Amino acid sequence: MIEVFAIGGYSEVGKNMTAIKVDDEIIILDMGLYLPAVLKYEEGDPRELTTKDLIKIGAIPDDEVLHKYKNQVKAIVLGHCHLDHIGAAPFLARHYDCPVIGTRYTIEVLKKLLEEHEYKLEGRLKPINSGTHLEISENLKIEFINITHSTPQTVLIAIHTKYGIIFYANDFKLDNYPVIGAKPNYDRLKHLAEKENVLLLIMDSLYSNSEGKTPSEKVAKEMLKDVLLGTKSEGNLIIITTFSSHIARLKSIIEFGKNLNRKIVFLGRSLFNYVKAAEASGIVNFSKNVEIIGYRSLVKKKLREIEKQGRSNYLIVCTGNQGEPDAILTKIANKKDIQFELLPNDVIIFSCRTIPTEMTIKNRENLEKRLKQFHARIFKEVHVSGHAFHEDHREIINLLKPKHILPIHGDHEITKGLEILALELGYKLNKTVHLGEDGKIIEIN
Ligand SMILES: [Zn+2]
Ligand SMILES: [Zn+2]
Repeated sequence: MIEVFAIGGYSEVGKNMTAIKVDDEIIILDMGLYLPAVLKYEEGDPRELTTKDLIKIGAIPDDEVLHKYKNQVKAIVLGHCHLDHIGAAPFLARHYDCPVIGTRYTIEVLKKLLEEHEYKLEGRLKPINSGTHLEISENLKIEFINITHSTPQTVLIAIHTKYGIIFYANDFKLDNYPVIGAKPNYDRLKHLAEKENVLLLIMDSLYSNSEGKTPSEKVAKEMLKDVLLGTKSEGNLIIITTFSSHIARLKSIIEFGKNLNRKIVFLGRSLFNYVKAAEASGIVNFSKNVEIIGYRSLVKKKLREIEKQGRSNYLIVCTGNQGEPDAILTKIANKKDIQFELLPNDVIIFSCRTIPTEMTIKNRENLEKRLKQFHARIFKEVHVSGHAFHEDHREIINLLKPKHILPIHGDHEITKGLEILALELGYKLNKTVHLGEDGKIIEIN
């Protein structure tokens, strides 16, 4: 029998965690963080919270349902490196005695998180490549299939069981012209769908209500090119902020920065961590062309140097795309901690979208208000999404023809689009298309 434990990511956007129980063995998929809960915590330093406290404030998934099965958990498998998928692993994974499996890049990012929290998972981290299998036990095998998203080495996880295959596609988009890495491995998916019984598809439904198809990252690259090479910026500084784990976007920025003959500098701790992890994984070698500075004191020193040597020779990439109070761009704009003067017509590019939570919307508004006081030129939403839209969902369902579908990555309002699509395609509510909820256990027959 197969039971799906919907642990996190079914009632909110974040803290993704699902456990699949196949007879008496369990595989855990993702252990993510719910960042708004951490940011909202006002009673002190969230770094001092215990695992129990973090569960209580809703920052990490509540895995209590698994406590009685602790010894049956055979593997923790991570699909990609975003914090809403791996950010709780430093706190939760050590309570289980099993390997933690991901692609090389995902594991390298996890290592940085573990270092930050001073936790160790010694000898348990197991990187495997997409396109390969791993035997978990006599009855369970996992396979990593290449898929595209907004960070490298994202995989679609296939769990091979005697009842059929369970696919875990959280997160993904269908990008046929990716800027880094290969396009989705449609051949393998088609092969598995034709040759085997596809029992269940657990699918990222964050944008299930958005019609059409998510544009390729190549489109974002063209948008960036248009702003960077198509507008006049001589004599002024260019500052770009984007998601630190978006290595493909960073690669495009470097390409155009070189076209403009500017020195390229990356500033900020999270940029440092994600880029170094990508270099350690052999994905890119940015250090050849870019100075990457993580420590705050060195960032300040570099900014003084930029002012002295002529700001118009530089393109800065820095943290702060969501207006986070602690990020470099915010500190520059607020003249807090960092003394660096923005001038009229300096170019500020937000290569991202604002994550739609109350706090980030407010943070971004504040940041933009400050930037406008300097009369900087602001370019927003130079970006395409990393998540599949409605028609991408249809493609995957038609390709895999799963017996059951379970939407994830939001509450029912958010996953509604996939529910409607599934019903349209002949699935039956609560029989073959299931509505998750944190804490719910779903039997798959
Ligand atoms: Zn993601
Ligand atoms: Zn996600």
